[in-house]
Amino acid sequence: MRHWPLWTLRRFALAYWLFVDLAALAVVAYAIASSPQPTPGEIGRFAAIAGTAGAVIIGSSIYSHRVGDSERNPWAAHLCYLTAGLVALPCNLLVLLLFGPALHGVLGKRPESHRWVFTLSATALAVFGTRYAIGWSDPSTDLGIMVLGATVLLVVRAGLIALGLKLRNPRAPGEEVVGEPIDAVLGVVAVSIGGLMGFAAVATPVHALMAGPALALLERAAQLPQWRRSAQRDAKTGLANAVHWDGRARYELSKARVRNRPMAVMLLDLDHFKRVNDEVGHLAGDSALSAVALLLTSTVRSGDLVGRFGGEEFVVLLPDAEPAIARSVAQRVRHAVADLAVPTVGTDGREHLLTGLTVSIGVATTQRFGYELPDLLVAADSALLAAKGYGRNLVEMA
Ligand code: GH3
Ligand code: MG
Ligand code: MG
Repeated sequence: MRHWPLWTLRRFALAYWLFVDLAALAVVAYAIASSPQPTPGEIGRFAAIAGTAGAVIIGSSIYSHRVGDSERNPWAAHLCYLTAGLVALPCNLLVLLLFGPALHGVLGKRPESHRWVFTLSATALAVFGTRYAIGWSDPSTDLGIMVLGATVLLVVRAGLIALGLKLRNPRAPGEEVVGEPIDAVLGVVAVSIGGLMGFAAVATPVHALMAGPALALLERAAQLPQWRRSAQRDAKTGLANAVHWDGRARYELSKARVRNRPMAVMLLDLDHFKRVNDEVGHLAGDSALSAVALLLTSTVRSGDLVGRFGGEEFVVLLPDAEPAIARSVAQRVRHAVADLAVPTVGTDGREHLLTGLTVSIGVATTQRFGYELPDLLVAADSALLAAKGYGRNLVEMA
């Protein structure tokens, strides 16, 4: 317990995360204590909702495993059957539905189990807050109230989680904190299908089965953000891959052309990197590439676009950068790389602190080369070659 990653959270984040976890525990205990024993009809509704959800999730897990999906997002499906439970079940049976991802999170031995527990706790608080709004012991199936409930559920859940993520990392980008637009769409679809499922279960429990195919489709669609990220990012460094960087850079350049704003492209190539691989090993080389990627993203501004261009080559688009600014950014990066010390493991299996990395940088600006990306890249590349020719560990302006 002393080694739980939970304790590595910043003080405010830790206090908030623990508060959410404990509040959820208290609310769940109250929900169990406050509801009478379920009737056979309610147990029938529970069996129909949990059975449909369970069958879809197990089927989808087996499929994901077969096709080699590395990570799954189970929360959209969870939100869907919880919404069904909100409409159709007494509070104590609704608590049972919360156990689906709880088991997944605890048994799955994820490195971030505390994050799972926090997300689950925030979900539980949002669910019972919604239940309070739509009727604690006798939830309403009036359309207006169901829409209000769905809104409360989505907004409270997203708000609780966003605050936790922001406290954990105040510098985290908005996309990481509040999610992407597709997450909001998935949430709305999840509560809509869940509402229908619950409504059907109230009328005739077995009709909840009809939501199965829609839930299965939602399960697949919930993996879309993950697929998009892996298609756009370079797996080794987490940076934009060359194709994605190219597309975004062209878009930013076209915007800058219209607004007549200066931009610069910075092409970086690590010096004598083959030696790192030959002398310390390829795994150490990979660690160095990850460390340089992290350094790059933290050394440039948040609006700057960093990508992995190729093997040990990186590329950065600097919006609103006059030539003098671009040069000083490049010098800052060059110095930061020279100061880098990367803990790695050598081919002999011993720990090795990799130092002495250097980088050569070529910079091209829109003021000299215009707003066409290929022209800027060709110019930056020839400046980079010149930097290599002059002895490396240098910045050259095209
Ligand atoms: P220079 O200063 O002229 O750039 O020398 P260099 O050795 O860095 O240049 P060269 O282009 O000859 O070699 C680049 C090396 O980068 C080749 C390869 O061993 C290494 N490399 C490229 N991609 C990766 C990678 O993903 N992982 C690791 N470990 N090494 C890589
Ligand atoms: Mg190279
Ligand atoms: Mg190189």
